[in-house]
This record gives sequence, structure tokens and C-alpha cells, in this order.
Amino acid sequence: MTLFEKIIQRQIPANIVWEDEDTLAFRDISPQAPTHILVVPRKPLPKLADATEADTELLGRLLLTANKVAAQEGLSDYRVVVNNGEGAGQSVFHLHLHVLGGRDLRWPPG
Ligand code: AMP
Repeated sequence: MTLFEKIIQRQIPANIVWEDEDTLAFRDISPQAPTHILVVPRKPLPKLADATEADTELLGRLLLTANKVAAQEGLSDYRVVVNNGEGAGQSVFHLHLHVLGGRDLRWPPG
């Protein structure tokens, strides 16, 4: 079981800021910006590349949850990032969206 499944099942603590039927959002333990929240599906999907047509609605819900948590944080400008695979920086293999904001965000990212 991944770390994020344990958070979803309340086996380990997290600072949860949003919860609904399909998604959960909690603060990143190592924030890279004043606001850094992770949005995850309850369904364990290891990475974005594993999503199929059957996940179309779920992927939309994840983005809408990202919008909601950004609004809760009072952010109008924010960045949503998905690291897909180790070479792209993914370390937890349960799909998650990083929602980052509260500071200037440069482009291109590192
Ligand atoms: P990624 O590197 O894209 O897979 O992102 C994984 C993220 O999970 C990193 O930003 C970590 O800081 C974060 N993280 C790891 N452990 C925890 C935890 N127990 N609670 C909240 N966030 C965590």
C-alpha cells in the first residue's frame, strides 16, 4: 500500500484540506511554496500514464478539486503539476496533483 493510500485510510496523519466522494487533498509535508497541496483520487492509480478512458470523469474531478483548494487558499494564480514517472520526479506511486501558489512561479520549471 502506498503512503497516500495510508493517508486516505487514515492510517497515517495528514493535514487534510478537502475531501469528497472521489478525491482528497492535503498539505505537502515538504512545501515548495507558501501553498503546496496534493490532490489525490481515492482510487489507487499509480500514475497519470496509467489512466484510461474509464478515468475521464475522475481526471476532471481532480482538476476541479485543485480549483476548489486554490480558492479555499485565496489563490487566483497557481500552478498544477503532475510528475509522471521517476525521471520526472515522481516519488509516490499514487497519482497526485501538486497545487502550488502564494509566490511568483517561474517558467520553465526546474
Ligand atoms: P512526487 O515527488 O511528485 O511523487 O510528490 C510526492 C510528494 O509527496 C512530495 O512533494 C513529498 O513532499 C510529499 N509527501 C511525502 N510524504 C508525505 C506525507 N506523509 N504527507 C504529505 N506529503 C508527503
